[in-house]
Amino acid sequence: MTNSILEKIKKAGIIGRGGAGFPTAAKWEMVKKAEGSPKYVICNASEGEIGVFKDFYILDNYTEKVLKGMSLAMDYLGTKHAYININANYHKRLKHKIVPALKKFKAMGYDITIYEEDPSYIGGEETTILNAIEGKRITPRIRPPFPVEVGLFGKPTLLNNVETFYDVALVDEGKFEHKRFVSIGGKAKNQGVFHLPANVTLEQALKQTQNWPDFDFFVQVGGSASGMVLNKDQLKEHPLTGAGSIEIYPADTKPRDLLMKWFKFYSEESCGKCTPCREGSFHLYELLKKHKTIPWKEIMEIVETMEKTSFCALGRSIGVPVISYRKNVLHI
Ligand code: SF4
Repeated sequence: MTNSILEKIKKAGIIGRGGAGFPTAAKWEMVKKAEGSPKYVICNASEGEIGVFKDFYILDNYTEKVLKGMSLAMDYLGTKHAYININANYHKRLKHKIVPALKKFKAMGYDITIYEEDPSYIGGEETTILNAIEGKRITPRIRPPFPVEVGLFGKPTLLNNVETFYDVALVDEGKFEHKRFVSIGGKAKNQGVFHLPANVTLEQALKQTQNWPDFDFFVQVGGSASGMVLNKDQLKEHPLTGAGSIEIYPADTKPRDLLMKWFKFYSEESCGKCTPCREGSFHLYELLKKHKTIPWKEIMEIVETMEKTSFCALGRSIGVPVISYRKNVLHI
């Protein structure tokens, strides 16, 4: 039974749904092989980036499936210990579903604890979750060592996203169909979360969900702060896989407003641990507030420095929206 779930995951070819795209079976095997006991399983239900709300939808509609996926991971690893790291706002709204479902799994011998996290982008970073649950400062850890070997309380730890555990439950039931959840928002006329075949293009995703705008537009995929910006002609080339969210912006969106939104997010979400991100995100926001026209030269210098020298994915990701927006929409 325990080996067969791994074989099923391998056969299905599931990759992590949290954004990094690491093969799920390989991660599970690494934790299994790592020395140390007890092992831990953590479900990441942080979803701290603006514009992404698919994990909320999954937890709301398929609470028990997510827990089933976690229990399969626990069986495979030979442990009974697990946590759900959940955005506190989500837990407040979903407690009435999560608590009774947890009781059922507890009765079956699974010890799953809820950790309510103050909603933030960095709160969803793997090593930050470990620190938070251990009661330490909410900042990322140096890697290596990786959580699969030295994770929660120094023990091997399997961290997967909500959607990954949901998919594992489907794989076990023979119902997995290579579909991905995507949140569609912004100026979309039919906003919501949709479950679509992973191989559709972004253009097909918008058309199939009645969200193809009748006005000129561009989009941001993979988060409305750190995601990549694409013009509408690029949507026929880009697959939905890995997107997680699509935000639609009218073509006449003011560049300054967009940059303000991103820089405000980064300056508020920077955890302050490293200088490039702490100072860089603050200065980007201040620079924009001070200037009537966009000081692109100074902005790009800071963005490039943050990309190259920040400690974790938050600071390093700032070039993704800014550079793609300049290239794909502003054509500069
Ligand atoms: S990049 Fe930003 S969020 Fe990440 S450790 Fe540095 S200050 Fe914290």
